[in-house]
Amino acid sequence: MRVCVIGTGYVGLVTGVVLADLGNDVICVDKDKAKLDKLRKGIPPIYEPGLEEILKRTLNDGFLMVTDSICDAVSESEIVFIAVGTPPGEDGTPDLTAVKAVAHEIADAIQEYTIVVNKSTVPVGSGDMVEQIILSHGVEPEKFDVVSNPEFLREGSAIHDTLVPDRIVIGAKKREAAVKLVELYSPLERPMLITSLQSAELIKYASNSFLATKISFINAISRLCEICGADVTDVAKGMGSDQRIGSQFLQAGLGWGGSCFPKDVQGLVAVAEKMGYDFDILTAATRVNNEQTQHFLDRLEKELGGFKGKTVSLLGLAFKPNTDDIRDAKSLEIIECLTEKGAKIKAYDPVAVEGVAALYPQVEMTESSYEVATDADALILVTEWNEFRHLDLERLGSKMNRRLLFDGRRVYSRERAERFGFEYFTIGA
Ligand code: NAD
Repeated sequence: MRVCVIGTGYVGLVTGVVLADLGNDVICVDKDKAKLDKLRKGIPPIYEPGLEEILKRTLNDGFLMVTDSICDAVSESEIVFIAVGTPPGEDGTPDLTAVKAVAHEIADAIQEYTIVVNKSTVPVGSGDMVEQIILSHGVEPEKFDVVSNPEFLREGSAIHDTLVPDRIVIGAKKREAAVKLVELYSPLERPMLITSLQSAELIKYASNSFLATKISFINAISRLCEICGADVTDVAKGMGSDQRIGSQFLQAGLGWGGSCFPKDVQGLVAVAEKMGYDFDILTAATRVNNEQTQHFLDRLEKELGGFKGKTVSLLGLAFKPNTDDIRDAKSLEIIECLTEKGAKIKAYDPVAVEGVAALYPQVEMTESSYEVATDADALILVTEWNEFRHLDLERLGSKMNRRLLFDGRRVYSRERAERFGFEYFTIGA
């Protein structure tokens, strides 16, 4: 099929290359010329495992093209995906400026019958909004349909998640439009669910908000564990082996961050409020999340007797492993607090250094875990990259001023850390 994807971020680019790899003719569109220059050379503008190989292959095979012209791309395509960003607006509701701008441009470019697919995470009613924008340009109603196809990929495993999604949700007013998407995705042989536009739009927010709440729940339990002497890992194991609960998203830690959970939870609360519903479960989940990192830092501050003049080193900056994305990462919250309280901050991350360095020039960036540990009064494990799981603790400790390890992701066991002379603090134990 002839497909175009507007927005070549984490979602749009991965969707584009995977569809191209399945043999579709795909045009990826972005307004960011620097991104397009990289893409044309086969260089991914983001870090995502496996992306470079598939990008190069699809460009070489001629299944993938990139352009900055929505007009050219749409006029060549049967299916047009909108995959632009929807960051939180000032009142917490998603800012749909980019979606609207793109919808106007699509309307001007439609020639043959076109299916316009909202893949961006957008609140209920956005499909209708896009439809109205296109109609307002005088496009005949029979010339197009708007479909909602929310994305569930996770950064760090985005290619795999796009190839093997748990489910594909397709919301449409007309069955024929949904069936066209079913045909597009049929080579993946994955479960597909056809719903109304509204249900599809809500499924995305409901899923992310539920997962965020699950993490907040176990983090709230972690606070009880710290008070009563229980161990949250054991509690989570005991809970998670109940099939009705499941073990995923039951790892206590510094809390949820990233480009999706905070914005989508906030978005659902704000949109629900506009509909007259007070989604107070999510407000509580957000409060637990906001307190989690601060509570951890309070414990560290107490242990150090204040941050002023102390060197605190961070292992990991990305909001989670295997990505360079730092949007709403917990590392940023930590850097802000430590800076305010006068600590000297050093950091190391395998890929996510650039964005943080630009935001916080006061942070000394280093090249390795051992370099970051050098002269540190405390080390905070912020992101659970695999390479942090197998550190030589003797070597690490020998570099530090004080062997103080604050493990924000429960990567190490107390027994192992203490064997190497570390004072070990973690969440929920
Ligand atoms: P992103 O910020 O990485 O990428 C968005 C891209 O859109 C950018 O490259 C930007 O230049 C481009 N863009 C913006 N306005 C444009 C315009 N008018 N014309 C052409 N290009 C334009 O965003 P993302 O992380 O890929 O997220 C996209 C959407 O998918 C969001 O709604 C997000 O909530 C949702 N989503 C994201 C993830 C994730 O893990 N990142 C997962 C599921 C859903």
